[in-house]
Amino acid sequence: MEVSFQLRMGQRTMDAGVNLPDIPVSTLDLLPVLLPFASAIVDASAADVEEEGKHISCRAGCGACCRQLVPISRPEALYLAAHLDSLPPERRAIIRERFRVAVERLRETGMRERLADFEDQGQDARREIGMDYFRLGIACPFLEEESCGIYEHRPMACREYLVTSPAANCADPHPETIDTVPLYAKPSLILYRFGDGKGGDRPRFLPLVFALEWAAAHAADTQPELPAPEMFRNFVRKVAE
Ligand code: SF4
Repeated sequence: MEVSFQLRMGQRTMDAGVNLPDIPVSTLDLLPVLLPFASAIVDASAADVEEEGKHISCRAGCGACCRQLVPISRPEALYLAAHLDSLPPERRAIIRERFRVAVERLRETGMRERLADFEDQGQDARREIGMDYFRLGIACPFLEEESCGIYEHRPMACREYLVTSPAANCADPHPETIDTVPLYAKPSLILYRFGDGKGGDRPRFLPLVFALEWAAAHAADTQPELPAPEMFRNFVRKVAE
C-alpha cells in the first residue's frame, strides 16, 4: 500500500510516498523506513543551512562525535544487535569484543553505575554525564578508521548530529564552541516514545554502548504491532506536530 505525504519544512515541501505491506509490524520492523525518513529531514535542514552560506563540517574520516554518549531507542538496540548478527563471524567477533571492552571500561570508571538509570535522569544531569562520558574517550564500537562502519544502519541520533563549527572543536565539545545544524524536527525524540507504534510512550532510550546487552535481555519481549501503513502515518503525524 502506498502511503503518500507532504511535509512542510521552511520553504521546502517534502512530497513523498512509501510502499508498505498492509500487515502488522513492530517499530523495529519499520526502522528500515523510519531511519531514511529521518535522514531526509536532516538533509533538508542541512541544505537550508548551506544555502545561508554555512558549511557542514562533518565528513567521513572525522569521528570525533563518535566518542559521545549516543542515546538510542529500544527498537534501535534490537536493530543494531540484529545487524551485528548478520555480519560475517570474524567481523561480528571484533565488534562484540569492542562492546565488551567499552562496557568494562565504564564499569572500572564508575560510569556504568551512573548510566544505570540514564533515561530517568533530568536533562542537566544527563548533559553532565554526557560530558564525563566523552572525556573517557571511548570510541563507538562501530567506528572504523574514524568513519561509521554501519553508516546505512546508524541510529537516528547519529543522523541528526551535524555541525557547522570547525571540525577541530568537536575534539573538546562545549555548547559555546559547537554549532549544530538546527533541524525542522528531531525524529529521534519521537522514536524514543514510539515503542507503542503511536508515539504515546514515555521516552525510553539507552546509551548505544549498552545496545547488545539490552537486546540480549529483551530479545523475547513482545513488541506492540500495528499495520505498517498506520504506524508510518503515526510517525509522520508526530513529525509534523
Ligand atoms: S553508530 Fe556510527 S555514527 Fe553513530 S556513533 Fe557509532 S560510529 Fe559514530
